[in-house]
Amino acid sequence: MSTIDTPNKLPSVDRLLNDPDIELLLREHGAPVVTRCARNVLASARQQVLAGQSFEAGDLVSNLAEDIARTLRPSLQRVINLTGTVLHTNLGRAALPGVAIDAIAEIARGASNLEFDVIAGKRGDRHQHTEALLCQLTGAERAIVVNNNAAAVLLTLNSLARRKEVPVSRGELIEIGGAFRMPDIMARAGCKLVEVGTTNRTHAADFESAMSSRTALLMKVHASNYEIRGFTKDVSEAELARIAQAHDVPMVSDLGSGSLVDLEDYGLPHEPTVSEALTAGADLVTFSGDKLLGGPQAGIIAGRRDLVEKIKRNPMTRAMRPDKLTLAALDAVLRLYTNPAQLAEALPTLRWLTRDLTAIEQLASRLAPVVQGYCEDFQVTVERTLAQVGSGALPVDKLESAALKITRPDLRRPGKALKNTARAFRELPTPVVGRISDDALWFDLRCLEDEAEFIDNLRGLVLA
Ligand SMILES: *Cc1c(COP(=O)(O)O)cnc(C)c1O
Repeated sequence: MSTIDTPNKLPSVDRLLNDPDIELLLREHGAPVVTRCARNVLASARQQVLAGQSFEAGDLVSNLAEDIARTLRPSLQRVINLTGTVLHTNLGRAALPGVAIDAIAEIARGASNLEFDVIAGKRGDRHQHTEALLCQLTGAERAIVVNNNAAAVLLTLNSLARRKEVPVSRGELIEIGGAFRMPDIMARAGCKLVEVGTTNRTHAADFESAMSSRTALLMKVHASNYEIRGFTKDVSEAELARIAQAHDVPMVSDLGSGSLVDLEDYGLPHEPTVSEALTAGADLVTFSGDKLLGGPQAGIIAGRRDLVEKIKRNPMTRAMRPDKLTLAALDAVLRLYTNPAQLAEALPTLRWLTRDLTAIEQLASRLAPVVQGYCEDFQVTVERTLAQVGSGALPVDKLESAALKITRPDLRRPGKALKNTARAFRELPTPVVGRISDDALWFDLRCLEDEAEFIDNLRGLVLA
């Protein structure tokens, strides 16, 4: 082994690749990747030497192996969500139940009857796989699935209100994270937004006076990620439906989360359900597949037969159609809803939302000493926290939960130490994502189910 302390002692790329230890890497990963990584490794070795640091020649091989592993690691990876937000948009929202994962694997494996009627031997319709169940669960006449709820709203507006006016309450002109702004969507859909009422108060009379021959439909947008409190008034779905009906235009309700079951039955706060909105008189509702529904990313448009059919005929629908894996997963998730008594157990989203506080606290008490063992300089305690649903459902209702609280009481400014520690947890083989607030790193355990995996994963923890 020779020490490399000047740039001219560095091997060329070719010589490094001819090292017998590289042969296996070359065979396993192919020359293009190994060569590219060898250039990287030699370039950073040169920087290191020029900065006055020497190293052993053998390190080049191990650095190369590491660089290759890093390069080939999939970009999209599973993480452990301990943020306390159950449906975290940045962390992929709903976790799928096993039956949906199995359905995806089964359909991904080969050909399927996606658009084929097996009995008749003729062309079929991809929407038919989920429609009957969606109608049964919501009371809608027809239902169509698209890529996400933003697409559902865009498509509905474009199909039913292009070149026409859509009155919306000023209190409902929402922005949702990720640049979904109702006024922008309206513009892109080709319709004219007519703002009605004020930010905090909108009355039925405001809608009445906004109606004209150019009005295409009335729209209600569920205020999903905020709440206006105090001196407020909004026009209910039923009132809006009555006005729409009197003027012979449809009423559309964008529910956002749109639960398929009454969450109160599971001990949770009330969230408007799809069938409630339809019963109140909405002609169409739009909602997400991966929020409270607990399924894959999708947008669902459900309601009146003629309106859904009109939407299906819009050429834009083709551009927003769901793929077979989404449909397979959604179908499997919807089937779970046919047995509401088992739902809280079978559907991860609902299981986590309804998880017993005592069970979370007991889990925290078991894990605190384990984590403490890895974080000697820190103090690890079990604390009560407030978790949230996330993704705009029940924005102000919190769920009592329990967390590991990691602090450095000996430091007056623990900010940097906490940031480094949070990063070390994110650099674990399966990254663990918590949150920093009030001079502490918090790991809310509401969504942690696989305790053994969590403990095993910790063995890779390297604290700076
Ligand atoms: C979340 C949400 C949307 C967007 O749904 P995606 O599935 O994220 O596209 C639209 N409207 C409301 C009210 C929402 O809460």
